[in-house]
Amino acid sequence: MGKLGGFKEYSRQDENNIAVKERINNYKEFTIPLKELALKKQGSRCMDCGIPFCHSGCPLGNLIPDFNDMVHKGEWKKASEILHATNNFPEFTGRLCPAPCEKACVLGIIDNPVSIENIEKNIVERGFSEGWIVPQPPKTKTDKRIAVIGSGPAGLAAAQQLNRAGHSVTVFERDDALGGLLRYGIPNFKLEKEIIDRRVAILKAEGIIFKRNVNVGVNYKISKLNKFDAIVLCGGATIRRSLPVKGIESKGVVQAMDFLTQQTKQLFGSPVEGEIISAKDKHVIIIGGGDTGSDCVGTSNRHGARSVTNFEIMPKPPIGRSETTPWPFWPLQLKTSSSHEEGCDRNWLINTKEFVTNKKGELTGLKTVEVEWKLKPGERPQLIEKPNTKKIWDCDLVLLALGFTGPETTLSDQLGLEIDTRNNYKATNYQTNIPHIFTAGDMRRGQSLIVWAISEGREAARAVDVFLMSESNLPTKGNGDLLGT
Ligand SMILES: Cc1cc2nc3c(=O)[nH]c(=O)nc-3n(C[C@H](O)[C@H](O)[C@H](O)COP(=O)(O)OP(=O)(O)OC[C@H]3O[C@@H](n4cnc5c(N)ncnc54)[C@H](O)[C@@H]3O)c2cc1C
Ligand code: SF4
Repeated sequence: MGKLGGFKEYSRQDENNIAVKERINNYKEFTIPLKELALKKQGSRCMDCGIPFCHSGCPLGNLIPDFNDMVHKGEWKKASEILHATNNFPEFTGRLCPAPCEKACVLGIIDNPVSIENIEKNIVERGFSEGWIVPQPPKTKTDKRIAVIGSGPAGLAAAQQLNRAGHSVTVFERDDALGGLLRYGIPNFKLEKEIIDRRVAILKAEGIIFKRNVNVGVNYKISKLNKFDAIVLCGGATIRRSLPVKGIESKGVVQAMDFLTQQTKQLFGSPVEGEIISAKDKHVIIIGGGDTGSDCVGTSNRHGARSVTNFEIMPKPPIGRSETTPWPFWPLQLKTSSSHEEGCDRNWLINTKEFVTNKKGELTGLKTVEVEWKLKPGERPQLIEKPNTKKIWDCDLVLLALGFTGPETTLSDQLGLEIDTRNNYKATNYQTNIPHIFTAGDMRRGQSLIVWAISEGREAARAVDVFLMSESNLPTKGNGDLLGT
């Protein structure tokens, strides 16, 4: 177990960031790692609780007190083995997870929680730098062939688990590069793309075959899938929500995902579709206050925007936990990202009524109104416009970061798959209405988190293995999903 009373001796210490002025000049990651001694102290803050609530917060069921203890003792290799027992890609979650485990950490009741996510990142980075994370091809092979469609975290996790079970796995990806939203959604300054390449190289060396630029159901006939014994659909939830008000079609109103994808493609010299969208010297308004909106803030500032403004239709959350979400639940609470810190005027309870244009159809402004939410017990909250609050905001570029309504139906239509009431691919224990076709990640649960995509990929792999072989040695699910992430 950890150091007795370590949490009393040491305060939480987080990584520092490179100064804003410097980091917004490039698209590199900007965190400054803690030294080994400081990390050991952070590991020793863990109380090795009798009931580790951190487990309940983590959808992967990561063995958190166990790896915290190993870090405290300087046993980094053992820590890496423990971490990889439940998580295929801790280098993604260690950088990008909102860390529901930390929100559920028992220490969080009286003090700052254990810095679990940062410990996770350092374990995996140490594992790579020491050469401990190496390909582990299966010792025996089965005669089963499996197609995984989509190379996001769900598809990659499913592929690695199925390959470990000895099956022959081919991953199909329609983009020119692998990783799903990790590649062309999340900006390079949050996840450098070499981190994905480093892991994919291991998966390839383990025997997984990757086919890029293959859009199944479009430039690859569905009938060709007949040669596979099982199929796992991990195509994500990619249909973007729009804002159907006057002027939406005007030049200068752009979907956030087009903006973010173009940026990363340009950074790596990949061909870019359509006209180049630049925020340079522009007054930019980003509609939508989630992760995508925040990534647009960071990218716009790096482009050299004249001003960056963010609108959110919901009320400003409290700085601390809302009373409605006490510990250990996932908190309703104001989230200020590193991108927000780089410069952004944030506004809540604003609704857009119209995109204002000039005679050439170019965007010149945004007409908004202030709103409030009326709550009545037992009814859905009602959006009310406040009288006399109309306002015009000058702007040259609007980025729509309004979320996603669900997965595309190209595959479900052609394969004859059922859709659930939330427009996602319907599955029971990851199995669709066609027995040898499975689905996982955002395609099954709607737009979510990387940690959930990895968890679902692992779970779906086990379900496929049981379907094909009647039993499975692949590990079972962690105990997450209890606390509302
Ligand atoms: C801008 C943005 C920022 C985000 N930031 C975070 C964050 O900081 N932390 C976090 O935890 N989560 C974040 N998320 C959410 C997270 O990225 C997703 O939940 C996660 O990537 C889902 O993984 P997935 O594998 O299910 O799908 P995806 O990552 O969407 O991957 C699906 C893949 O399938 C491919 N595909 C689809 N159809 C076909 C087909 N017919 N043939 C071949 N290939 C196909 C797609 O091209 C894509 O590569 C963010 C999302 C966005 C949009
Ligand atoms: S809840 Fe916090 S203190 Fe307790 S075991 Fe988990 S990480 Fe350690």
